Amino acid sequence: MADIFDDVRKDAQGCGFSHIGEISVDKIKLRKEARDMCAVNKCGSYGKTWSCPPGCGTLEECDAMIRKYSRGVLLQTTAELEDDFDWETMEKTLIEHKNHIADFHKIINKKYSGTFLVIGESCERCEKCTYPEKPCRFPDSLSYSLEGLGIIVSELCKENNIPYYYGTRTLTYHGAVLINL
Ligand code: SF4
Repeated sequence: MADIFDDVRKDAQGCGFSHIGEISVDKIKLRKEARDMCAVNKCGSYGKTWSCPPGCGTLEECDAMIRKYSRGVLLQTTAELEDDFDWETMEKTLIEHKNHIADFHKIINKKYSGTFLVIGESCERCEKCTYPEKPCRFPDSLSYSLEGLGIIVSELCKENNIPYYYGTRTLTYHGAVLINL
């Protein structure tokens, strides 16, 4: 019998990612150090959305949430930079990566609604997040932040035998979808 997960992988391949790898949820470790880095608020999303700390819950609550899923795909968008200051390609690639995730999110939402968890950048689904005044508008399908949950991406890649870095003058953005299939 065909594995539904093969379809998930095929759908991801069709969304334009450069690399797709399989994640075992058992190998995901949530680290306080990652959350501590979020609290520095370099990205400006800390305390602004339900997808990032503290709105996404404590480390223990995030751990309980991800353990409800069995498997996942790691989704990477890689670009080659002209030099170390190629900001244009960096910005363009981030936009492309977000679009790839959004496209994949739409596809799996149609097929497997309620059975997956999207993890990538901070959630930008609504023009203005309801945090903290009102509950999330889409609690079953918001997009959580990788680091916000406590995931160290290089460790996630290593544990699952997926490359984290693709060589000199390359830049890779990462995301993941966990699925309960
Ligand atoms: S879905 Fe909307 S309300 Fe929920 S976290 Fe994302 S932006 Fe905020």
